[in-house]
Amino acid sequence: MKTIPLKLLAASLSFAFGTHVFSDELPPLDWEELGETSPWQYTELHRDVTVVTPGQNGSAPSDAVVLFDGSDLSQWEKTPFGEGVRMDRTEHFLKRYDSAEKLGPAAWKVEDGEIIAGQKQGAIASKQAFGDMQLHIEWYVPVLEGKEGQEYGNSGIFLMGLYELQVLNSYQNETYSNGQAGAFYKQSEPLVNASRAPGQWQSYDIIFTAPRFNEKGTLSTPAKATVLHNGVLIQWDTELQGPTSFIGEPYYVPHPEKLPIVLQDHDNPVRYRNIWVREL
Ligand code: MG
Repeated sequence: MKTIPLKLLAASLSFAFGTHVFSDELPPLDWEELGETSPWQYTELHRDVTVVTPGQNGSAPSDAVVLFDGSDLSQWEKTPFGEGVRMDRTEHFLKRYDSAEKLGPAAWKVEDGEIIAGQKQGAIASKQAFGDMQLHIEWYVPVLEGKEGQEYGNSGIFLMGLYELQVLNSYQNETYSNGQAGAFYKQSEPLVNASRAPGQWQSYDIIFTAPRFNEKGTLSTPAKATVLHNGVLIQWDTELQGPTSFIGEPYYVPHPEKLPIVLQDHDNPVRYRNIWVREL
């Protein structure tokens, strides 16, 4: 390491910490004396920090699991999850998941490096299951003449197949606030509406903490999420009250530590691209 003359170091530190401002209240620091024991070293850590090569313009960093890079749906399959109509149905789907029933390969269309929802194929799920995660996903609602409210670009990202972050055109499109883009559906409206107009790509960056259950299946800690929409904070450490549900109050149902990420087919031609996840 290059050696900095002690007097020069003292002068710069004195300037940086503003001792000239407080000189009437505190004696000046004696850097020559401090230099004999280097007490600042006691609070320095020297551990190995894992190196991750970041992606360019939102592309996957080196340690991410890439779920869709524009080529195919090999990381996805059909699923009974991603409906979220009523809690009794959600419980039923969870039982089906446990029985490891396989419904077959994902049949959504892939075109020009994009996945297209709304082909009446039902929801698709990542083959890999995730719990705590950082998820990046980009989505697009085309201009749809005559569509409005919940029918204008509706899809959704179901974290663990159960907790829906709403996808919808919410640019000058009225609907209930906890059902707009960036809402955890019917639980938590976004802090702000950071929507772009239809016909433009948008992004979600989600940091999700899975709920924890004890051995008896009782909730220990709820699911939590922080979300950026187009780089703007819209959910901040939001506590979820249970799986998101169209009808009725949510409540927690014990489930595995990891479950798939699910994309909702709401019969709307929403597109997705550049999907990657980092396990936390
Ligand atoms: Mg939806």
